Amino acid sequence: MELPFAESYKIKMVETIRRSTRQEREAWIKEAKFNLFNLKSDHVFIDLLTDSGTGAMSDKQWSAMMLGDESYAGARSYHNMKKAMKDIFNFDYFLPTHQGRAAENVLFSVLVKEGHVVPGNSHFDTTKGHIEFRKAKAIDCTIDEAFDTTAIHPFKGNIDLNKLEKVLNDNPKEKVPFVIITLTNNTAGGQPVSMENIKAVATLSKKHEIPVLFDSARFAENAYFIKTREEGYAGKTIKEIVLEMYEYADFATMSSKKDAIVNMGGFIGFKDQEIFRQACTYNIMFEGFITYGGMSGRDMNALAQGLDEGTEFDYLETRIKQVEYLGNKLIEYGIPIQQPIGGHAVFIDAKKMLPNVPKEQYIAQTLGVEVYIEAGIRGVEIGTLLADRDPATRENRYPELELLRLAIPRRTYTNNHMDVIAAALKNVYDRRDSITSGYNILWEAPIMRHFTVELEKS
Ligand SMILES: *Cc1c(COP(=O)(O)O)cnc(C)c1O
Repeated sequence: MELPFAESYKIKMVETIRRSTRQEREAWIKEAKFNLFNLKSDHVFIDLLTDSGTGAMSDKQWSAMMLGDESYAGARSYHNMKKAMKDIFNFDYFLPTHQGRAAENVLFSVLVKEGHVVPGNSHFDTTKGHIEFRKAKAIDCTIDEAFDTTAIHPFKGNIDLNKLEKVLNDNPKEKVPFVIITLTNNTAGGQPVSMENIKAVATLSKKHEIPVLFDSARFAENAYFIKTREEGYAGKTIKEIVLEMYEYADFATMSSKKDAIVNMGGFIGFKDQEIFRQACTYNIMFEGFITYGGMSGRDMNALAQGLDEGTEFDYLETRIKQVEYLGNKLIEYGIPIQQPIGGHAVFIDAKKMLPNVPKEQYIAQTLGVEVYIEAGIRGVEIGTLLADRDPATRENRYPELELLRLAIPRRTYTNNHMDVIAAALKNVYDRRDSITSGYNILWEAPIMRHFTVELEKS
């Protein structure tokens, strides 16, 4: 008999989580004004709010923390990280930052100016925020297939070369500081970018003398998809594929809370010494001295070790197979999800799941609350609350897709937890006809309302 798949690690330390009753959860979510961000984590059984900084570090990462060097300048931990930058990405220059958005803030302070345009594939929200904050414009050039949840395409995160070429033809090179490739494309559902597309985007950008920035949060998951889906890469190691990918990057910004498997941290990678030097000044102003940039020595040590573990095939296979396991179980139960299944999360198509809830009553949020009440599982709304109001008309912006994202933390839950999640979704799906109303807003902040919004039952 063929041996089944099993995790490539065993468990050395555990954290207790507690189941609760439906009655308790109904009271807690009401108290939280039906906003999942307002819940105490003790009131959550399985927490799928985000995969950012929520993973489990390995024994090697914890021992690396004990060896952290907390010297202000030139710490051993900094040099460990510097070595990882060179070995994993071939970056000669880098700056540590406290997380991904800080890396964006420092690098964009050098490169992005008022009136610039920044083409890319579905810019992450903080990335877009840092572009727009500088009165520049982010232009989404993702391929159209990304916006159809049922279209099957192995690299739905790809950049449409025609869309990109148009932006580069329409704007002088002085107005385009860089092209962003987001690996994987988080906003489009954790969908990967192919090596072929990376090369084509880099070639086109080079022709227009424009550098390429990799928004790298899930670069290793992206490399796993290249290895398993793209012709010619099956025989290469993840580390070889990553090195090949980064041949085409001039800069990288990284949220190490994702594929470097740490709870906090980030960095900027550079090939160009002059831009690195300019960024040093901003790093010192916003983050810390250039050899720690907002990170403690122990955290830099754990990060360097995490980069090495995060680019091992066995680790990535375990991670991505778990996300697939959940996705396939949901498909088996007839639940509408975005396909193909992404690297770090499963996205439920809430409009198809709850067809009787009017869009004015926040369909994906309604689904999120129902799933919480069903089993104490916390996902996150990617729908109308997140899309916010039009700044000019103050009307709600209704996005094409209403999604509930279930992000899977790294090395944290077992497949028994995945079974509970799938069963909870099935129970909600089975009673979908009785869910006919959602929520109204009681109070909201003028921007980024989804974090703090207060709701009442419609
Ligand atoms: C998480 C993330 C960021 C921002 O990083 P933080 O560490 O949360 O500040 C930027 N880009 C992408 C693609 C991300 O996933």
